[in-house]
Amino acid sequence: MAELFYDDDADLSIIQNRKVAVIGYGSQGHAHALSLRDSGVDVRVGLPEGSKSKAKAEEQGLRVVTPAEAAAEADVIMILVPDPIQAKVYEESIAPHLKDGDALFFGHGFNIRFGFIKAPAGVDVCMVAPKGPGHLVRRQYEEGRGVPCIAAVEQDASGNAFALALSYAKGIGGTRAGVIKTTFTEETETDLFGEQAVLCGGASALVKAGFETLVEAGYQPEIAYFECLHELKLIVDLMYEGGLEKMRWSVSETAEWGDYVTGPRVITDQTKAEMKKVLTEIQDGTFAKNWMDEYHGGLKKYNEYKTQDSEHLLETTGKELRKLMSWVDNEEA
Ligand code: NDP
Ligand code: MG
Ligand code: MG
Repeated sequence: MAELFYDDDADLSIIQNRKVAVIGYGSQGHAHALSLRDSGVDVRVGLPEGSKSKAKAEEQGLRVVTPAEAAAEADVIMILVPDPIQAKVYEESIAPHLKDGDALFFGHGFNIRFGFIKAPAGVDVCMVAPKGPGHLVRRQYEEGRGVPCIAAVEQDASGNAFALALSYAKGIGGTRAGVIKTTFTEETETDLFGEQAVLCGGASALVKAGFETLVEAGYQPEIAYFECLHELKLIVDLMYEGGLEKMRWSVSETAEWGDYVTGPRVITDQTKAEMKKVLTEIQDGTFAKNWMDEYHGGLKKYNEYKTQDSEHLLETTGKELRKLMSWVDNEEA
């Protein structure tokens, strides 16, 4: 059974007695920096000269210095820049300023798990990862609530690294909702697998294949869009509230019967065998290596895939239909 921690299990004074640098001020960075400050923690934000985020952080009352200055001043350094550039920021601006007793924090385990960042032995290496987007993390904190977090320690140089991580999580509201203990390995591998096989990759491929099947059979794209994409949200909301059982309770018996007999014909043993291969390539570092090569090679294929899908009939149909849906927050991404 997973170990869970709440407000009473965490001592806020630990992080209040440290100096924290939040490197990056994007989705997660702004939420961490502002909520830590509001929890009485000494925070500075590290951003390079010319950063687009700098004005915003200053407007919100935070002190902004360069990443190197922030790392030099602080003894807890949270790295919240995009994963593919973390190793470079670490090498150039953080590593030269790390001292024994400092702590290096992450919001995702990617760079530690795959060895792109190697911290010196005298430094605690911790993760506090909210299980929700940064803007929700901040909003929930302001409303006196929190987003559940997962926390992990990769390297416990001080002997108190987990208590420090819990204290940090309390500072951003995480222990109000609950913190689950994990490891860098478990967090990174399950996160990558979930987004690839189920949440992003699996779901988009399922929606596209269903839409194409209907359109190729001569049905109207608008009808296919509603059936295969739009209604998915209604189904997922029910699953979120009460698992598969609540979803099946709410849909018709005909839909439920179709679910039982047809689902396994679409997601077959072969699909699951492929999922296992996907997981293996995550575990052995193949995915991470390929992604870093793609990223640092100029994102050529990434941009090709992006353009291909933005021109797909599913997307062009949806774009027009959503204009008619006043109830959908249809601001384009
Ligand atoms: P964002 O892309 O939202 O933010 C990036 C920030 O980093 C921006 O403020 C950007 O500044 C800044 N930045 C870019 N380059 C540098 C640099 N060289 N030095 C310092 N700052 C720089 O990142 P996320 O918040 O999405 O992700 C941060 C971490 O959190 C990642 O590890 C991610 O996996 C993890 N995470 C993210 C979640 C999310 O909700 N998005 C959820 C859970 C974990 P500028 O404005 O100048 O570009
Ligand atoms: Mg992820
Ligand atoms: Mg229907």
